[in-house]
Amino acid sequence: MTDQNHSAAHHHSLATRLRRLAYNLWWTWNPEAQQIFKELSPLVWRYSEHSAVAVMREISDQELHVRLHDREFHHRVHAVLESFDAYMNATDTWAHRHAAGLKGPVAYFSAEFGFHESLPIYSGGLGILSGDHTRSASDLGLPFVGITLFYRQGYFRQRINPQGWQEELYPTAEPDTLPLELVVRPEGGRLLNSVEIGHSTVYFQTWRLAVGRVSLYLLDTNLPENDQHFQGLTSTVYGGNIDTRIGQEVVLGIGGARLLASLGITPSVYHMNEGHSAFLTLELLAEQMRNGATVENARENVRSRCIFTTHTPVPAGHDRFSRELMEHMLGKFWSPTGLSTDNLMALGRVHTEDPEEQFTMTVLALRMSRAANGVSELHGHVSREMWKDLYPGTAVEQVPIGHITNGIHTPGWATAHAHDFWNTRLGSDWTEKLMEPGFWKKLSNGDLASDEELWALRYVLRRDLVEFVRRQVYEQHMRFNVEHPLDTSHLLSPDALTIGFARRFATYKRAPLIFRHPEQIVPLLSDPARPVQLIFAGKAHPRDNDGKRFIQRIVELSRQPEFAGKVVFVENYDINVARHLISGCDVWLNNPRRPLEASGTSGMKVTIHGGLNFSILDGWWREGHNGQNGWAIGDDSNETDLETQDDRDVQSLYNALRESVIPEFFDRDEHGVPRRWLQRIRQSMMTLVSQFSTDRMVAEYVRRYYLS
Ligand SMILES: *Cc1c(COP(=O)(O)O)cnc(C)c1O
Repeated sequence: MTDQNHSAAHHHSLATRLRRLAYNLWWTWNPEAQQIFKELSPLVWRYSEHSAVAVMREISDQELHVRLHDREFHHRVHAVLESFDAYMNATDTWAHRHAAGLKGPVAYFSAEFGFHESLPIYSGGLGILSGDHTRSASDLGLPFVGITLFYRQGYFRQRINPQGWQEELYPTAEPDTLPLELVVRPEGGRLLNSVEIGHSTVYFQTWRLAVGRVSLYLLDTNLPENDQHFQGLTSTVYGGNIDTRIGQEVVLGIGGARLLASLGITPSVYHMNEGHSAFLTLELLAEQMRNGATVENARENVRSRCIFTTHTPVPAGHDRFSRELMEHMLGKFWSPTGLSTDNLMALGRVHTEDPEEQFTMTVLALRMSRAANGVSELHGHVSREMWKDLYPGTAVEQVPIGHITNGIHTPGWATAHAHDFWNTRLGSDWTEKLMEPGFWKKLSNGDLASDEELWALRYVLRRDLVEFVRRQVYEQHMRFNVEHPLDTSHLLSPDALTIGFARRFATYKRAPLIFRHPEQIVPLLSDPARPVQLIFAGKAHPRDNDGKRFIQRIVELSRQPEFAGKVVFVENYDINVARHLISGCDVWLNNPRRPLEASGTSGMKVTIHGGLNFSILDGWWREGHNGQNGWAIGDDSNETDLETQDDRDVQSLYNALRESVIPEFFDRDEHGVPRRWLQRIRQSMMTLVSQFSTDRMVAEYVRRYYLS
């Protein structure tokens, strides 16, 4: 081969490998890979929600070959592909050492998965947790498959109209612009499975998403074989009415179990992440009975294979279905078992004989699992209390619901700046040492990273955020006001103490709480020597008008003279907006009504970037806070009167801001560095990064639940 031919063949193989990489979400936690896709077409990158597949569709083979003639670029592409291959082929993984006892993969069912802004198949924290769980399962080398639905229209895109009211858009995703591959039968043709819903048989096809070393399967009823209204059954996340809800849950649970069987996958354990997928236990039960088992034996068998994680600390948040609805929707599925509708209802009732009681998915999941858990210590208590009637004669603290506190997939949430910063100082394998608490103790002094360097990182990240918000607000404004472009140069300041609040606008999260007493908050935001600014973002559920009023309230406040330029609401909170906020904010504010925040995870994402938590002692922060690594709002007690709770919490919030948060941020030495603040940042990194990662969390699931 001539040199030239050799190089052409080499380029060809790099090009093919790069196209393949676009189809594995591994690139979403590798900043060098992201940089390559971005550089290939900055415009497509920008307008496709940063989709590697969209970029690669835009780039011809010819262009790709020519671009690879740039030696520096070629070198980086080669390096990324080598590390991808090394990742995919690694055999000495954590799971190889610690989970060799698993006889089959963990099958993890969840109604939503949040991985990346280009794949909007999640609505909030539950989905983000599922996505992070999956990415850590891959990193740890765990045999693992995920199951969910393919929501073609996903969750909505949020727009705020000139009146400050949320509007919802549902752009339709085309599977060929997403990193999805249609699952086909060995003999060719797409793999079709079906479930019974009402009197109909509903067919679904399946898409496969590669997430590092593991697969996620997405079930999709959008098929010409189905009646029109079933074609749209899986189109939106938690969309439609109660019929849609139960129909989606039949597809997810029963369909998911059948899909695994049709693929020849025999899971060692079925993990139900929240109750939406609990119907899978009915399919497993029916299967046992088809094979001749008695009901009792079938139940024991199913229980021995399932585990359940609950996330909802309020009774009203759990899916409940009436007897009529259950009979109508599941009758055709259930009748071959030979059991009655009352038998079916009994599985989902706390009081099995009570004809008035509805069928609760959480009850089914608890009854049919060998182990169950909440997602923080406090949430474990709340859940035991909530479901104690299901275990008569058992003391509350003996109710068999434990807890595993949530975490985040740290490499996936660390921005490119953070990766650079830590690669240089901790070595590029720091992402593999997330579970080693001792590793982070290295930050106790300035040997690895001086105060000055950490403070410089804070500045870079804060400026990025300020510029991002200015661009977003400019674009928001131009939609309604093309004739009068907005000057955003006075919007926010890169020198100001930047407080972020971003999450779903469920009312229990109390987004406007900080404005409860304007006479107290206005002065704190108005001292020119100590500038403080607040950035808000979040979506309200389309049917939650109270949540939408909270958004409107904040948008209106941001327009009042005393807050203008210092209070901003950023549209369309998604993973991209989140990434900017969690990295750029100095302080992450969280003021839910305790104990309604089961865990919360957004606050965990700030630590690696030097952000500090300022939160109610609810969910994870009740465990994370140690007095030096951030600030608590309120104390470790439950107040039941809502007005009293709001008043106490907001006073505590103002006091902390006035006495500690603001003064410490502006307490600078002769080099302009806030030493005490940096001490808190070090404390936060040393105590939180390791503990609140999904590597630690998944390892705990393996040891305590998957392996036993
Ligand atoms: C992390 C994250 C969440 C969940 O965080 P909470 O603290 O539970 O609100 C929700 N949405 C997005 C986009 C996130 O990134």
